[in-house]
Amino acid sequence: MSLKIFFDVDYTLLAMDGSLRPGTRDTFERLIEDGHTLYIWSGVGLRTSDVERHELQDLVSGIYKKPIYDFVNGLELLKVPHWPDFVIDDYPEIVETFGGVLARPYFFRSQSDDEMEHIYAIISDFAATGRSGRVGYRAARGKRPV
Ligand SMILES: [Mg+2]
Repeated sequence: MSLKIFFDVDYTLLAMDGSLRPGTRDTFERLIEDGHTLYIWSGVGLRTSDVERHELQDLVSGIYKKPIYDFVNGLELLKVPHWPDFVIDDYPEIVETFGGVLARPYFFRSQSDDEMEHIYAIISDFAATGRSGRVGYRAARGKRPV
């Protein structure tokens, strides 16, 4: 199953000092090799400059504003042109709406953080079986409009 995967920015991919979570580029490359499409969104606005600063633009198929409440209706309001099949975020409600991974927050730069590896494993489980038994996986509650 190929998925449209949406990544949050602050404390999911970037620490408070703006540094990139270890393993991000490698994980993105593997997800794309696996046939998935990757998007970046953020509740504070379009994060194009952050994506470019970390040289991820070649791996990302779209950058959007993220709804911070009323997530399903917010997609249309904020002109997000795809239904998120899988969401990676440190904020539980949006993950529980679309399904995905509640990421361990990345506040401080840390060389030993291996959360991206864990996220990759959950995505691989989900793509293969439609679920994951690993910590952090959340099933979708929101209904995709037909
Ligand atoms: Mg966040």
